[in-house]
Formats: sequence, structure tokens, C-alpha cells
Amino acid sequence: MKTEELKEIAEKLVAGEKNAALTGAGVSTESGIPDFRSHGGLWEKYDPMEYATIDAFRRDPEKVWVMIKDMNALLEDAEPNPAHTGLARLEELGVLAGIVTQNIDNLHQEGGSKNVIEFHGNGRRLVCLKCNAAQDAEKARANWDKEFPPRCPECGYILKPDVVFFGEPIPPQASARAMELAQGVSVLLVVGTSATVAPASYIPMVARKTGAAIVEINIENTVLSEGFADYTLLGKAGETLPILIEAVEAVLDKKGGLT
Ligand code: NAD
Ligand code: ZN
Repeated sequence: MKTEELKEIAEKLVAGEKNAALTGAGVSTESGIPDFRSHGGLWEKYDPMEYATIDAFRRDPEKVWVMIKDMNALLEDAEPNPAHTGLARLEELGVLAGIVTQNIDNLHQEGGSKNVIEFHGNGRRLVCLKCNAAQDAEKARANWDKEFPPRCPECGYILKPDVVFFGEPIPPQASARAMELAQGVSVLLVVGTSATVAPASYIPMVARKTGAAIVEINIENTVLSEGFADYTLLGKAGETLPILIEAVEAVLDKKGGLT
């Protein structure tokens, strides 16, 4: 990572009227939750196309719940890493207005971020597809010995995690808030996402169209790296963000605005 480049990005962040971040599974791999391309993890056992589609859930919820149970164990153990706490620090410093996350693991909130738009829902909630009743996943988990998969307390239908499965629409409110946040940002940080899952992948385009500098942080090049991102910082999110924050703090310090 070039110091000059980091300084430039830090200056843009501090000068920006509004900055935002789009995050994906890569911010949570360092917390032990595998992304879709991690080897030897959950997704080698369960093909997402076979298990994470709404058709699969409707056809055979018991089968899909075997995967959800394994995923739940991972989520339960996961703690926020320096990528999550780093993004929270940027918000605290007043240089990040909010995060649009594709993750369903709640780790941004646990890491201290306040304005988090959950584009794909949150695995801590369960919902009933029949009557819309909601339940805490933790409550259902405590009862798994007696009832698995968990059923709706109102109508008895099998509950579904309140996450967006492939083939389901984005919750309209999250979608509207995300588009509003992305419009007119000075800098969009795109962290740990392959930026290939639509419609979340449109967010960098919306930001770019309204003048944003796109700063990508990823362990490898993505579809954005060539000809779209203004900066590609190659490295782990949990290592790169703390370095970027140091650079931001140095700029703020110079301005006498460090809080
Ligand atoms: P993805 O699996 O398609 O891409 C993850 C990206 O993160 C890759 O580009 C990879 O190179 C990068 N990456 C991995 N480790 C990294 C690290 N330590 N630092 C920086 N970058 C790293 O994930 P996606 O783009 O989020 O899209 C897949 C879909 O899967 C999303 O819709 C998401 O909802 C869902 N998903 C969520 C979780 C979670 O909640 N933690 C986990 C797996 C999948
Ligand atoms: Zn119900």
C-alpha cells in the first residue's frame, strides 16, 4: 500500500460532505464466517444455489434448516474484527455517514456502527412466510432440542431467517435507504465484496454516477478493480482499515478536528 495513495484517500474522506461504505462477506471472514469462495468452509458443504434460494426453502424447509443450523453456530461464535470496529471508528470520527451491508451477521452493529443498512436482512430474526410473525433466533435456538425446525408461535408454519434468499426481493425500505445514502457521496468504500450480487452491485454505480471516488479494499482484484475503482487497496480488511484510519486521524489532527 502506497503512503501517498493512503494520504490522498484520507484527505478525500475528511473533505467529503458525505461518505459511505458497501460491505460484503469479506469483512467477516476474519471473524470466522466464510464467504462464498472460502475453501473448506460451510459453502463447500452446502452449495448456496441449492440451499440459499427461496425456491429451495419453500420446497424443502427441513433440508435448508440443516444448513441454517450450521450457519447459526458460526454466527453465534463470531465477534467483530478490526474491519467492523474500524468502520465504526470512521463513523465516530464523522467521516462515514453509514454502511450498506450485504452481511446478515449483525457484526457491524456489534462493532459499534450506528447507521447500518441491512440490504440482505439479519440472521438474528426469524419470520413466518405465512402470517409475518417474527421471532428471535436465539429464542428458537434455546428450544431446538424440542422443536426443530422452529415453527411460528402464531400459525405453526416453519419459520425462515429474516434474510434475503436468492430469488427474494430486497426489503423495500433497505433498498430505498441504501440508494439515498449512495447518491451524492464523495467517497464510497467498497470493502470485502466481490460486487457481483445484484442489486447490491449497483450501489457503486449509483455512487459513481453522482461523482463518488470508489475505494476498494479486498484481498484480490474484483470486477471493479479494472477501470472502475479509483483506488484498489489489496489486503485484508481487518489490517487495511486500521492503517487507513491512522491516515484519516493524521489529516484530522492537522486540521485540529480530531475527536
Ligand atoms: P462474496 O463471497 O461474493 O465475496 C467476498 C469478497 O470478499 C471476495 O471478493 C473476497 O476476495 C473478499 N475477501 C475475503 N476475505 C477478505 C478479507 N479478509 N479482507 C478483504 N476482502 C476479503 O461475498 P459478497 O460479495 O458479500 O456476496 C455474497 C452474498 O453472500 C452476499 O449477498 C451476502 O449476503 C452473503 N453472505 C453473507 C455472509 C455474512 O453475513 N457474513 C457470509 C457469506 C455470504
Ligand atoms: Zn405464522
